[in-house]
Amino acid sequence: MVAQNGTGNQNVEAEKLDVLESTQTVIKEALDKLGYPDEVYELLKEPMRMMTVRIPVRMDDGSTKIFTGYRAQHNDSVGPTKGGVRFHPEVTDTEVKALSIWMSLKAGIVDLPYGGGKGGIICDPRNMSFRELERLSRGYVRAISQIVGPTKDIPAPDVFTNSQIMAWMMDEYSRIREFDSPGFITGKPLVLGGSHGRESATAKGVTICIREAAKKQGIPLEGARVVVQGFGNAGSFLAKFMHDEGAKIIGISDAYGALYDPEGLDIDYLLDRRDSFGTVTKLFKNTISNKELLELDCDILVPAAIENQITEQNAHNIKAQIVVEAANGPTTLRATKILTDRGILLVPDVLASSGGVTVSYFEWVQNNQGFYWTEKEVDERLEKVLINSFNNVYNTSKNRKVNMRLAAYMVGVRKMAEASRFRGWI
Ligand code: NAD
Repeated sequence: MVAQNGTGNQNVEAEKLDVLESTQTVIKEALDKLGYPDEVYELLKEPMRMMTVRIPVRMDDGSTKIFTGYRAQHNDSVGPTKGGVRFHPEVTDTEVKALSIWMSLKAGIVDLPYGGGKGGIICDPRNMSFRELERLSRGYVRAISQIVGPTKDIPAPDVFTNSQIMAWMMDEYSRIREFDSPGFITGKPLVLGGSHGRESATAKGVTICIREAAKKQGIPLEGARVVVQGFGNAGSFLAKFMHDEGAKIIGISDAYGALYDPEGLDIDYLLDRRDSFGTVTKLFKNTISNKELLELDCDILVPAAIENQITEQNAHNIKAQIVVEAANGPTTLRATKILTDRGILLVPDVLASSGGVTVSYFEWVQNNQGFYWTEKEVDERLEKVLINSFNNVYNTSKNRKVNMRLAAYMVGVRKMAEASRFRGWI
């Protein structure tokens, strides 16, 4: 049976199935390389728990609309599960499952005491009012409240969800439990126990990975030509950080098109003009397509938007020497092989975009302790974690003669497999 989504689009559904199957393929390869028996793969290939909920929401016009939501908990052998909640019309149960597995891998790579979780609601927040979004966010928490909590499963922001939505969700959970529970969710506003540096953490992590990858490839960041696909939370902060590192951002894009200037774009101006959904290109006449953007002549390419952007169709045309995946799943497995065979250093999503979950973990630790850190402390800790993790994956890739994606999966899956074994599950 194919997964259901808001559009009913068979292509979208097939793509999401492909993402899950690709993830399972690499997990199997990683476990085989590490010498684990088949039952470990059988345990880890799907989430241990998957909940589907139907959420009635009173709309502003007085009608009631029923939304479908999901929460997947991949593996809680290491600790509580953790991962974002996505609001998007094309969310499917298959996608949420795959994303929860990726969260487990990320937690393993940066060595956090978590397993992976993920949530999603089929909806289009761009067409919903502020109050409708609040009712939907609260309804979702009521629907999943039995299986989540600060020591069970800790949600966070993802595509089209933000700190305001986290605040409503935290408030709803605290009301249900009848005590204040800031550690129930991360990505909250600072005044509600959010962490300094959380909003820009994913982009900071990507920046650290780019810096380390550039060192390995002998590319100086000063003057390096960078292309970023997507100008939302991850992409826009990243463009700013790379610009501040002295790189030249020659291309950026959003869902409606891309901007290109070989002399470098005015990032501060674009940041100022982008809307809360990461849209900015609509303001310009001279745009190029996302397809053209990916194939631009540049040193570093950062897909920071959606899945399946680099495929076997365009992998041969990618001109960057380094591809760093800020988005989840932007490169297919076939494209990974093509890029690697061409000598392009690909830093995979499960490593490159793990800055977000790392600072989410810092936020949860601060909430549990009731003791808060400065932005400098957060940044220093993040830097240390990411540099170690990058080098761990890079060295595994060199020592075991495998590509960076397989190396990252080998690092990411090991702790879960060991913890499941010690618990006597397998
Ligand atoms: P966002 O919603 O803030 O921004 C998404 C951006 O992608 C927007 O600029 C949007 O216009 C653009 N986009 C949407 N559809 C597109 C399309 N078809 N073609 C080109 N561009 C398109 O989302 P975000 O939080 O920046 O997340 C982006 C990616 O990074 C996702 O894959 C997400 O899972 C991943 N990620 C984000 C975080 C985080 O903390 N924000 C953490 C880990 C991974």
